[in-house]
Amino acid sequence: MSVTAALRAEMVALLKELKMPTVRECYEDEANRARAETLSYERYLLELARREAETRRVNRIERMLRQSRLPPDKTLATFDLDRLPLRVQQQIAILREGAFLDNRENILAFGNPGSGKTHLLAALGNELIQQGRRVLFCHCALLVQDLLLAKEELKLPRMLKRLERFEALIIDDIGYVEQSRDEMEVLFTLLAQRYERGSVLLTSNLPFSQWERIFKDPMTTAAAIDRLVHHSVILELNVDSYRIQHAKSKTPRRAAGAVRTSKNPEPKKRQAPKKTQNET
Ligand code: ADP
Ligand code: MG
Repeated sequence: MSVTAALRAEMVALLKELKMPTVRECYEDEANRARAETLSYERYLLELARREAETRRVNRIERMLRQSRLPPDKTLATFDLDRLPLRVQQQIAILREGAFLDNRENILAFGNPGSGKTHLLAALGNELIQQGRRVLFCHCALLVQDLLLAKEELKLPRMLKRLERFEALIIDDIGYVEQSRDEMEVLFTLLAQRYERGSVLLTSNLPFSQWERIFKDPMTTAAAIDRLVHHSVILELNVDSYRIQHAKSKTPRRAAGAVRTSKNPEPKKRQAPKKTQNET
């Protein structure tokens, strides 16, 4: 083995041991470039460090996105913020910076079904992960089932500890499924345990006045609301269902198109209601 080949083999082995795959891949090309451009040793090293750090950052975010269980297509890029009340738009502009996580503040999103609560909080979660924050997205009903199972197996403390690792816990659709007392209890335990320890972001179709349906008795309901609201931002999405609006805005175009065809003498009456029903 020539000296150069031996050096290269040692270099590759060391970079493997040090877990620097990107440097391993690009150090030779970068060295050639540095020689051609007469870069200093420091510049060369800096470039390698930058490349390694960048790949790690990208991989880390990809891993966190996978682990977050966020719906992949619900991002701010696919969300029409202009549809929301101005106040909510302003709130989102601040929340997306992520400082609320440092203050362990909660976000409570209320609104009609289809108003965009889930999409909005998922998009916010996505945004936070891009900034390196740890986020977990859960459907409330499934989360409660997991908590109950953990409780039965005497592993509830361990599960709560695991959830603590996430700076933002998104609980989607609290109160959507009527819960039993056992289910309510584990949910309350989770909320109480997270109080001032980590942010909870939740969506609900039910206003607080109906939360007794979730927590069963007035005392527990008040205690749960109290903890959630203490440090919180409330987003009121008082807008129509996006799905219904979308279906409606499509209908006239279809109907108008259909009017022009001679085979369809009464398109408006027949098509409009059918379309609306299908899409809601
Ligand atoms: P909610 O959770 O309030 O019931 P969703 O967030 O599930 O509503 O929204 C219903 C559907 O409409 C989803 O497919 C969502 O992506 C879409 N949607 C809602 N609001 C918007 C919006 N402002 N811009 C783009 N898509 C939206
Ligand atoms: Mg929803």
